[in-house]
Amino acid sequence: MDRKVRVRFAPSPTGPLHIGGVRTALYNYLFAKKHGGDFLLRIEDTDQTRFVPGAEEYIIESLKWLGIEPVEGVGYGDGPHAPYRQSERKLIYKQYAMQLVDAGHAYYAFDTAEELEGMRERLKASNVDAKYDAITRGTMKNSLTLPEDEVKRRLENGDQYVIRIKLPRKEEVKFFDEIRGWVSFNTSQMDDKVLFKSDGMPTYHLANVVDDYLMEITHVIRGEEWLPSAPLHVLLYRYLGWEDNRPSFSHLPLLLKPEGNGKLSKRDGDRLGFPVFPLQWKDPFSGEISSGYRESGYLPEAVINLLAFLGWNPGTQQELFTKEELAEAFSLDRVSKSGAKFDLNKAKWFNQQYVRMLDDQTLANILENQVKEKTSGVDFSKEFIFKAAQLVKEKVSFTKELWEYSFFIFQIPESLDEQVVSKKWKPELKPVLAEIKSAFDAMNKFTAEDAERVYLEVLEKNGIQSKQFLQMFRVCLTGQAGGPPLFELAALVGKESCSARLNHALTILP
Ligand code: GLU
Repeated sequence: MDRKVRVRFAPSPTGPLHIGGVRTALYNYLFAKKHGGDFLLRIEDTDQTRFVPGAEEYIIESLKWLGIEPVEGVGYGDGPHAPYRQSERKLIYKQYAMQLVDAGHAYYAFDTAEELEGMRERLKASNVDAKYDAITRGTMKNSLTLPEDEVKRRLENGDQYVIRIKLPRKEEVKFFDEIRGWVSFNTSQMDDKVLFKSDGMPTYHLANVVDDYLMEITHVIRGEEWLPSAPLHVLLYRYLGWEDNRPSFSHLPLLLKPEGNGKLSKRDGDRLGFPVFPLQWKDPFSGEISSGYRESGYLPEAVINLLAFLGWNPGTQQELFTKEELAEAFSLDRVSKSGAKFDLNKAKWFNQQYVRMLDDQTLANILENQVKEKTSGVDFSKEFIFKAAQLVKEKVSFTKELWEYSFFIFQIPESLDEQVVSKKWKPELKPVLAEIKSAFDAMNKFTAEDAERVYLEVLEKNGIQSKQFLQMFRVCLTGQAGGPPLFELAALVGKESCSARLNHALTILP
C-alpha cells in the first residue's frame, strides 16, 4: 500500500528565515497539497550554541503571513508525533545512537580538541585531506583503538565523548534525487561525522534522520546545501534497518544573486534594495534591522507566486497562480537543477499584478489613510477618494505608492515638470491655454468626454494638433509628465479645480 504523503519543513532557529527557506517551505506545502498529504513544521534546534531568541516565533509568523500553514508541528497543536521541537525530543535519540554502536556502525571517540587539531595539522603537513575517517580513526582515541576496559572506564568516569558513524573506507553510495536524478558519492570523500555528543544531544544528522523516520516522512524536499549530507543519511537509514521506509530526496536549486554569480545574500538585498526576509527582523544581539517583504508592501499572494517561480515553472505561458492553482500545477519534475536568479523587476511586476486584483474598496481605504496623513484638515469625500484610487490603481506596484501616484489629484501642483516645459512650452501657447480655461469655465456639464471635446475644439480652432500639446496640457493640470487618463482626471477634480490649475499654470509659465 502506498504511504500517505508526509513532508516537513525543518528549519533551525538560528536567525530570520531567508526567502530561500521560505521557498523550501512553499514547495513542501504545495507538494503536500497536490498529493492530499500532510505538511509538518519541525524545529531543528539541537545546536544550542546557534540558538537565536525570537527566530522560532519569526518562522511561525512568516508561515502564517504567507498562508503556508502546517497541519502538525511547533505552534500547531499536539500532533500525533509531538513534540516537534528537537530539544524536547532529546531522550529519543540516544537509543538509536546506541543501536548503531552495538551493530558496529558507530563508535565512541574521546579525542580532545587539541588532539583533533594535532591530527589536522599533521595531515595538512603531509598534504592529505584532513578528516576523521576510515584511515585516521586508527590513529585516534576511540573505542576502535582503545582497549575495551579503558573504554568502559572512561564512560563510567563520565569522560567527554562523542559517538561517530563508522563509514566504510571506500564504498559507493548511490541514491536517486527526484530533481537531479542518480547521485553518487564515495565514502572515501566523506568523514566519520559526529552523531551524538556526551551532553546528551544528537547532532543534526542523527536527529534529522530519526525524526523523519518516526514522523513517517515520505519525501525530503530541502535546499541544495544539504546534498552532501544525503549519502550519510542514506547510510544511516540502511544501518538503522529503515531502508524500506526511507523518504525520497529532492534537493532544490540555490537562489542566486540577480547577476547570477553566487548565492543570494542579505548583503545583495541591502545593495540592490530588496528584502531577502519575509518579515522585518530585528537582530536581538546587535539591534540591526533587516527589511521584510511584508513591511516593504508586498502582498503575501505575490510573494507566494514569485517564490514558486524561482526554481519551478509550469511549462506553460501562465504566470499568475493562486496558491490553490500552484498546488494543482506543482510537480518536482518541473523544478530545475540549476540555480534560480532573483529578479527584482519581476518581483515588483508580480506584486503589481496582485495590487491590481485587490478590490477597489480595499485600495480606496488604503488611499484614504494616506490622504488623511498627508493633507491634514482637508476633507475629501469617500467617493472622491474611491474614484482617485480607481484612476491610479494600474500604475502602482505597491499599495503604499497610491499617494505618490495620485497626490496631484488632491493638490494643485506647486511646480510643473521642467523637462516637459522646456521641450514643449512656447509663450505663443499662452493665449491657447487661456482660451481652453475660458471654454472650460463656460461649460455646464463637465464630464470627461465633454472636457475632451471642448479642449479639442479650441486646439482645432488654433491649428494645433492634440498629440503635440497633450503632454504639456497634462503638466498644466497635474504638474506631472505622466499619469492616469487625463480627461477622466479632469472630470474627477471638477471644473473649478481645473480652472484654478490652469490659472496657476498661466501665472507661472513664461
Ligand atoms: N535543519 C536543517 C535546516 O536548517 C534542515 C535540513 C533538512 O531539511 O533536512 O535547513
